[in-house]
Amino acid sequence: MVFDKIDIFDKQTRPVVIAGPCSAESEEQVLTIAAALAGRGVSLFRAGIWKPRTRPGCFEGVGKEGLAWLQRVKYEYGMSVTTEVATATHVEQALAAGVDVLWVGARTTTNPFAVQEIADALRGVDIPVLVKNPVNPDVELWVGALERLYNAGVTRLGAIHRGFSSYAEKFFRNAPQWQLPIQLRRRFPNLPLVCDPSHIAGKRELILSLSQHAVDLGFNGLMIETHCNPVCALSDARQQVTPDELGIILERLVHRSLDNGAVEFASHRRRMDEIDDAIVHLLAKRMELSREIGILKRECGVTVFQPSRYNEIIERCTRAAAEEKLDTGAVKDIFELVHSESIRQQLRVINGESDK
Ligand code: PEP
Ligand code: MN
Repeated sequence: MVFDKIDIFDKQTRPVVIAGPCSAESEEQVLTIAAALAGRGVSLFRAGIWKPRTRPGCFEGVGKEGLAWLQRVKYEYGMSVTTEVATATHVEQALAAGVDVLWVGARTTTNPFAVQEIADALRGVDIPVLVKNPVNPDVELWVGALERLYNAGVTRLGAIHRGFSSYAEKFFRNAPQWQLPIQLRRRFPNLPLVCDPSHIAGKRELILSLSQHAVDLGFNGLMIETHCNPVCALSDARQQVTPDELGIILERLVHRSLDNGAVEFASHRRRMDEIDDAIVHLLAKRMELSREIGILKRECGVTVFQPSRYNEIIERCTRAAAEEKLDTGAVKDIFELVHSESIRQQLRVINGESDK
C-alpha cells in the first residue's frame, strides 16, 4: 500500500494532537470544550456521536444531531473535526456534515463485514480515515481493515493504537502491547501512527507516561479525550482530562527527533552488531548440539519433548537472567523460542529429514 499524505501529519515535527470529549453530549458541552481547546495546538477536534457501548442502556451517543455541533466547532473555532463511523449511514451523514476526518473504532475493526460496509460507502470519496486497532491483539485484522479501505480508494490512511482488551490485565484498561504497533510501523513506515493513551489507560493519571512512551517510540500523533467536567462525563469519565490538564501533559512531554545524525551512535552500534553476530553464531552451535542429541534420542527411542528438561532450561536461564539484572520475563520468552526451535530441529532428525 502506498499512502497519500494527510495534511495534519505532513511536515509535523511534533506529534499531532487530537483532543475533545469521548462523546458529544450537548451543544453547550461541545462548544465549551472547543473554546477551551482552541489555540492550544490541537490539530483535530474529536467527539463521538455514535457510541459503541459494551452493554445496552448506557449512553449511546446523541446521533446525527451532534454533527451540527461539530460544524459549529469547525467554523467558529477553525479546528478540523473527526468522529467515529461504524455503518454506511454514519459515513453518509458525517460526509454530508463536512466532517474532515473519520475514524473507525476498535470494535468495528474487529469485524470485516462492518469495515467492508464503511469502505464501500467511501468509494470515490477523498477523506482521511484513521483506523483503530481491533480489540484483540491481531495485527492482520488491523492491516486487513486498512486494506479494505485502501482497495476502495481511500489512500489517506492512519492507524490509532488504543490498546488490546485482555482478561488478565488489571493495571491498564486495554493492554498497550507496544510490539503490535511497532510491527505495523515496520511493515508500513509511512503510515501515520497515533496513540490513544486515554483508552489504553482507562484512568487519567496514566496518560502522561503513556503519551511519553508513544513519543519516545516515534508515534506521529496523540488522541487524548478531553472534557471540561470529566467526572460528570456520560462516557469514559475516569479517563478524560480537562483542557488545562491536557495543556500540562503537552507541556511536560519531552520531544525527540527520529535521528539527529549523532555520530556517537556509530561505534556503539558496531559493538552491538558484533554481539548480535556472536549470538547468531552461538545459536548455530546450540542447534548443532540439539541435532546431535536428536540422533541419540532417535537411536534410544526416546521422545523429543521432555518436559522436565524444558523446565530445567527455563529455570536455569531465568535465574541467570535475574543475577544479571535482566528482565526475567523477556529472557524466558527468548529461551522458550530457542527451545521450541531446538525441538523442531530434533523432530526433523527423528523423521530422517536432517542428520546434521
Ligand atoms: C472512543 O474513541 O471513544 C472509542 C469508542 O474508542 P475505541 O474504539 O478505541 O474503544
Ligand atoms: Mn471513549
